[in-house]
Amino acid sequence: MKEISIKVRDDLCDRILSRNPVIEKRMLKLYKGKINEGDIIKFTTQKGKFLARGYYGIQNKGFGWILSYYYKEKIDEKFFKKCINKAISKRNDLHVVHNTDAYRLFNAEGDGIGGLSIDRYGQSILIQWYSRGIYKHKDVIVNILKKRLPTMSIFEKKRFGEGGKYIAGNDFVLGNYPEEPMIVSQNGIKYVVDLDDGAMTGLFLDQRNVRSRLRNVYAKDKHVLNLFSYTGAFGVAAKLGGAMSTTNVDIANRSIELTRRNYEANNLEFTDDDMIVMDVFSYISWAVRNGKKWDVVILDPPSFSRSKKKNFTVENDYMNLAAEVSKLLSDKGVLIASTNYSKWSTESFVDELSDNLLSVKSAVNVKEVFTLPDDFCVNKKYPLSDYLKVAVVQTMI
Ligand code: SAH
Repeated sequence: MKEISIKVRDDLCDRILSRNPVIEKRMLKLYKGKINEGDIIKFTTQKGKFLARGYYGIQNKGFGWILSYYYKEKIDEKFFKKCINKAISKRNDLHVVHNTDAYRLFNAEGDGIGGLSIDRYGQSILIQWYSRGIYKHKDVIVNILKKRLPTMSIFEKKRFGEGGKYIAGNDFVLGNYPEEPMIVSQNGIKYVVDLDDGAMTGLFLDQRNVRSRLRNVYAKDKHVLNLFSYTGAFGVAAKLGGAMSTTNVDIANRSIELTRRNYEANNLEFTDDDMIVMDVFSYISWAVRNGKKWDVVILDPPSFSRSKKKNFTVENDYMNLAAEVSKLLSDKGVLIASTNYSKWSTESFVDELSDNLLSVKSAVNVKEVFTLPDDFCVNKKYPLSDYLKVAVVQTMI
């Protein structure tokens, strides 16, 4: 790939040297030529002293990613191989956990290459490309994976459409096409996944520890409500943990079949009561009006949702929604409140949530807080990548 050299303004040198990995537009200002997606950029001071190398790739987070701070290190096959092999080896503990075969193998800037993630789903891997720029390096990266993990099939998701949207297409890359349905495990819980059917796979890998705790600690003999349930992953965990009942609520018709598959993969009975297809906001109003109560409620909404009642954004509406939902908790009921909203720190999320719940409840007790699991390793110089926060809060009437 072409390497271009760009001098940055003096005031931006320190930013690069502080190891913030994002390439910003202003860092490219002094370059008059054309930069193409995938180009390698060498940043230097005004006097030509080496600062770092990165690649150009437009993404919602910026204009590319810094990859190396060592002047002798070229961004080539050897570099990508080093990063990928290191990331895979770092997860050696996970490779041998007998009841877990779905987790992240490579976590973008946390593993040294922003814009690229690689997940393991059983005997398959899923590569996600977050810019056209990183996609330009596809052949090199796929070859490295083919050599390192020769028996695995490879799928991909191109997430560089307008506004970072998934670009639909054939997502199979190479290997033996796996038999369907594809079933993976996390902590012994089975999930049906589909790596070649649209933007999502059926399973959010980053909630593994939360589902496990729900199963082992919070679910036994409880009535559990799972809002924005998607494929019912939390519902399955609760049922396996001995929940007396589960109520999954999602607006998508499809979620009934997807949830049924997951229950049945775990030999759980799935009845009409286990899933309600309905707008969550309408369901909550109905349930509050009718005095319905649950012992455990899981609240894991998407960042945006359009519904008849309102346009929901996590940023503006999450806390009100959490307060409303807490009306559905029985005395000493537990709310498992989750968000991917990266602009809240974990502390501010937990504080704000507690304050808002106290507008409805007499007391709240934060039992535990989850962030990303270790396989989703975070780049410490880029706190926005530490996006997941899940608070488990017990409330009193
Ligand atoms: N909690 C899930 C992931 C949620 S994904 C899990 O752990 O697997 C977001 C889900 O919210 C999608 O399935 C989508 O259909 C659903 N959704 C979005 N807006 C909704 C609404 N207004 N009412 C109900 N479900 C909604």
